[in-house]
Amino acid sequence: GAPALSLYSPSDPLTVLQADTLERSIFNSSSAWVVEFYASWCGHCIHFAPTWRALANDIQEWRPALRLGVLDCAEASSQKVCSEFGITGFPTLKFFKAFSRRPDEGIRLFHSDDGIDKLRHSIITSVERHEDVWPPACPPLEPTSLAEVRGFFQANNVTYLALIFEKADSFMGREVILDMLQYENIAVRRVLSSDEEMVKKYDVATFPSAYLLTSNGSCSRIPVHLEERSFYTFFLRRLPDIVRGTSYNLTVIPDTEPRTTPTPWRVADSSKLYMADLESVLHYTLRVEVARFSDLRGERLTALKRYVSVLAKYFPARPSVRNVLRNLNRWLRGVKERDLPYSAVEAVLRNKKEVPNARLMNRTIWVGCQGSQSQFRGYPCSLWLLFHLLTVQATLPKGQNASPLEVLSAMREYVRFFFGCRDCAEHFEGMAAESMDKVKSRDEAVVWLWSRHNRVNARIAGTTSEDPKFPKLQWPPPSMCPACHKKFNGQQVWDEGAVLSFFKAHFSPSNIYLDYIP
Ligand code: FAD
Repeated sequence: GAPALSLYSPSDPLTVLQADTLERSIFNSSSAWVVEFYASWCGHCIHFAPTWRALANDIQEWRPALRLGVLDCAEASSQKVCSEFGITGFPTLKFFKAFSRRPDEGIRLFHSDDGIDKLRHSIITSVERHEDVWPPACPPLEPTSLAEVRGFFQANNVTYLALIFEKADSFMGREVILDMLQYENIAVRRVLSSDEEMVKKYDVATFPSAYLLTSNGSCSRIPVHLEERSFYTFFLRRLPDIVRGTSYNLTVIPDTEPRTTPTPWRVADSSKLYMADLESVLHYTLRVEVARFSDLRGERLTALKRYVSVLAKYFPARPSVRNVLRNLNRWLRGVKERDLPYSAVEAVLRNKKEVPNARLMNRTIWVGCQGSQSQFRGYPCSLWLLFHLLTVQATLPKGQNASPLEVLSAMREYVRFFFGCRDCAEHFEGMAAESMDKVKSRDEAVVWLWSRHNRVNARIAGTTSEDPKFPKLQWPPPSMCPACHKKFNGQQVWDEGAVLSFFKAHFSPSNIYLDYIP
């Protein structure tokens, strides 16, 4: 069977949150929290996971002033809470001040894959936004002054005071302050290079540099090889009488056991399509992705209408599913309001009016799109299949009066307004903006989507989001369609006419197996 693995494990120094532990953990907590809301199927989340894990390791000593958490919004049990927290794309990072109480108090942080420094800096800047209620375990982060230093050992019962002299835009001082927060008998403060009094008193000429003051009145420059955070921290932690405090209670609400049970391996023939994948993508788009927007309006509402209209027109559905799609499409066309609550869409999907024989399954069952582990394939795989199928179905006579861009535009808007993998959506929009308007016929629409999908395959082949059991190939491979490949000037090239014929056969209703659907 496929083992259900999440992107993070309990041995990472972060809290793996679940729907029922998220609010209990972060609300009214004496720690500030940064939570990564991700979707395990999202390739960019898979790429980002090592960065987030490295950050968690890097700042684990900042607990309990600050804690990191992760929540997988792809879990069916988390979808409601993710929508309450306003998560519409993945990954989303949110900072919650200590003693936050509501989902909307989360402050969005921007992620970058280029290392953890920027993330660490933006976390510090966020911690500094605490005004009246400071996290109790967090030492002061603002620069100190001569007045404070003069009276320091009278006011504080510690043996050491370390001073980090630095320029105003440096984060190093604050990082060392946070790195040392679990240690007793020492305090760390930063001093700005613009503080002339202090710079003069300690005769400081190098920024950054650090000085150690003791309660018996001594003062010396901290001798380090490099004026760097880790060198300072290493030195300070090894001073005599410096120990990690015992009062730091790092216990958190225990993680509940992962509830995902391994799914049985479903045997699939790669030359076939499976209705289970196709109905799963209908369920996931309409009940999960669209549901992240509690209010549908403007271009997003138009995008939904277009999407449902191409589904109703071209999806080769079983009768019970066709009734759902037609019913939803008819209803959406009648919606004249500019604003639509998602709950109204959901009521139609639930078939409240009891249209006879209208049913869409309420979960996902991956067959041709099943991955060897739960984070691979699944939803994005089925979204590609769906749109390839729709572009091919639109070449049939029922599509003859429509614009050649009918299906591609619906896809472009769906991806732009609803697809949770936001980096994927940006890349796709880039490709669409570049050449989609050159498509002049329904056949060209099929070929356009085929070649863009192959570009994506080429771009992400060999990255960590690739299922090792399903390597990204230029598709269809010669074993599937020998005629698609030809030689030109000694080089392997595509025969686009053959590709088009292959698509028309492959993405046809007669090639869809009904195995595994309830
Ligand atoms: P998929 O690429 O999902 O393909 C599904 C199935 O389609 C394959 O198993 C094969 O049978 C068939 N197929 C393969 N190639 C073609 C083709 N050229 N034409 C027709 N059928 C084909 N992931 C990222 O990491 N970065 C991105 O920028 C990114 N952008 C995406 C944009 C969109 C619009 C979508 C829908 C997904 C995107 N993804 C991206 C996800 C990624 O493309 C895959 O969907 C995902 O990694 C799962 O891969 P898979 O092995 O199931 O095959």
